[in-house]
This record gives sequence, structure tokens and C-alpha cells, in this order.
Amino acid sequence: MLHLFYDNIHSMKGNKDIFSLARTHCGVYTDEDVSLGTASYFKIGGFATIIHHESYSTLAKAIRFFHEEGCHYEIIGDTSNMLFADIEYSVPLVSTRDLQQWSIYGTQLRAESGVSISLLAQKTSEMGLKGLENFFSMPGSIGGAVYMNARCFGSEISDSLHTVEYIDTTGALCAYTMKEGDFFYKHSPFQDISGACIVSCTLNLTKDDSNSLVSYAKQCQAQRIERGHFDYPCAGSIFKNNRAFGSPTGKILDTLGMKELSVGGARVSSKNANIIQNVENARSQDVVELIELLEQVAQRRLNLQLERELEILHVH
Ligand SMILES: Cc1cc2nc3c(=O)[nH]c(=O)nc-3n(C[C@H](O)[C@H](O)[C@H](O)COP(=O)(O)OP(=O)(O)OC[C@H]3O[C@@H](n4cnc5c(N)ncnc54)[C@H](O)[C@@H]3O)c2cc1C
Repeated sequence: MLHLFYDNIHSMKGNKDIFSLARTHCGVYTDEDVSLGTASYFKIGGFATIIHHESYSTLAKAIRFFHEEGCHYEIIGDTSNMLFADIEYSVPLVSTRDLQQWSIYGTQLRAESGVSISLLAQKTSEMGLKGLENFFSMPGSIGGAVYMNARCFGSEISDSLHTVEYIDTTGALCAYTMKEGDFFYKHSPFQDISGACIVSCTLNLTKDDSNSLVSYAKQCQAQRIERGHFDYPCAGSIFKNNRAFGSPTGKILDTLGMKELSVGGARVSSKNANIIQNVENARSQDVVELIELLEQVAQRRLNLQLERELEILHVH
């Protein structure tokens, strides 16, 4: 879980100068005063500057430049696992949405990090390639899925992952090859490499029957719909599951009567108590208070310490 408390090294004005220098020297372009209440997956948050790029080299230059200037930045994919605060962010949000190329060589998929994982699941299933079908209709980019080691319906992205390319804070393009033990439940090694931006990955898929894969992918989508994933804006599971607890977190919170509990415009889903929905113009603080409430109840009544999966980007 990321709780970023950023001491305002650069004032907003200072960072506007940084953005202007990044445009001139690195060739990136910026979307300024973007409303995160509109642009983010949760539809919550204040305003931010989003950094876009046309090539790996402009992205690499920008990352190195921000790092050398001591300007903290955050990498964002589709923001489907993030909660933004209702503030004006001074940190640049470096988007991977411009990285949209993907290709297949035999049974190997190579995808740039901004490509939708659901789109890749659909296309590879239709081509009779097994490995991603369970991710059909899961929100987010493939880069975000690798970073989070996303998992659903019994398998995780690292099961088929082969290599990853990322840019480090010096602007170098680095190659990572899958090693046993590096990935585990909702954890990837990239969570330990500060400032790294995943730019592409390759996955080893296997040949299978396209009709069965497509049919299974649709079943996964139907289950998500039934579980209310798309009823309101949300960010998926708020907390990780913990085997030691004996039950999924949603079930535990359900037994504690947490379904439909609300704070302001945020409400615990009536279908899954591990999902918080933005039902009516929720503020970031509404979600945070609701999360804290769930944590307190689980701690007080069952002595369980819940671990957050949702990443909350606070800036002070
Ligand atoms: C309705 C719904 C259902 C969901 N179901 C599931 C599920 O079944 N299983 C599951 O695991 N998750 C699920 N999620 C959570 C989310 O979809 C995944 O975590 C997804 O992989 C996040 O991808 P993203 O591109 O949106 O990442 P973001 O939310 O943008 O980012 C998440 C984290 O990854 C980092 N990051 C993103 N891209 C990169 C990159 N290219 N390089 C370096 N760091 C990067 C960000 O800095 C941030 O720390 C669900 C979310 C929703 C809204």
C-alpha cells in the first residue's frame, strides 16, 4: 500500500516551471489542471498535471530530469487501483497511456504498459492463446497489472510473465527476466524499485481452443457484473485477502455487518463488503474515513489487522 506524504519540496508555481522545462528539454507534453474527479477511475480527486510522451526516449528523459531536479513524480496507468485526494497536486503524474503497441510472435505476447489488460485478454482468447482469459473485463493497464501482480479467478499475471522492460530513475532502459520468488500475492519486485516505470512486458501463453477461452472470459465478466464491480465508480478491493484470516476479507467484513455502510457519498457495496463505491460525488475524505472505520471494526471485534490494497496518493 502506498501512502505518500510528500513534503512540498516544490511549490505549485515552482513545479509549473519544472513542467515547462520538461516540455522544452525532454520533449514531453503536459495536460494541466486535469480534474481527477473526472479523469480517475474512482471519479474522485482534485487537479493535477499529467505528463505524456511520444517515445521511450522522451519518457526516459523526463523521468531522469524529474529525478535529478528532486521533483517527486508518480507513475499512473488507468488509476483503477488509486484514490486521489481532493487537492491540487504539485507532483507530476506520469501517464503510461501513450504506450499502446502490442504484438504476438508465436505464443508470446509483447505489450507496452499502457494497453488495457482486458483488451489483451479478449484478443489473445480469440486467437486461441491461453493465459490472460481470466483478466477479461478487469480494469487497468497491463503495466499496472504487472506492478500490482494482479490476480483473479485463481491465477495471477506473474503466472505467464516472462520479461519486463522498465525505465529507472537515471533514464536507463532496463530488462528484467522473471525469477522465482520475486512475485508473490499482490506483490511485484517493481514495488521495491522506487520511481521505476514499466514500459513493456512479454508473456508466454499456450495454445488452446479459442471458443472455450472466449466462453470462459465471458463467464469471468459475468461474475464481475454480478458482483457489482461496475455499478458505481470504485477501485476494486480495498483490502488484500489474508489466508491466515481463513476467509476472504469481503466475507469477514460482511459478517461484521459492514455492507452498505456509508460516509458522505461513499458506500460499502451491498454485494461485496471489500468494495467501496462512489455513489454520489464522494470526497476522498469520505472514502478514507470509511476505510478507517472498516479497519477499526475488524481490529476491535476480531483482532484482525487489514492490509490495504488500494493506493492512496496524499500530498502535503
Ligand atoms: C471494478 C474493479 C475490479 C478490480 N478487480 C481486480 C481483480 O480482480 N484483481 C486485481 O488484482 N485487481 C483488481 N482491481 C484493481 C486494478 O484493476 C488492478 O490493480 C490493476 O492492475 C491496476 O492497473 P492500473 O493501470 O489501473 O494501475 P493504477 O491504478 O494506475 O496504478 C496502480 C499502481 O501501479 C503503479 N503503476 C501503474 N502502471 C505502472 C507502470 N507502467 N510502471 C510502474 N508502476 C506502475 C502505480 O504507480 C500505482 O502504484 C479492480 C479494480 C476495479 C476498479
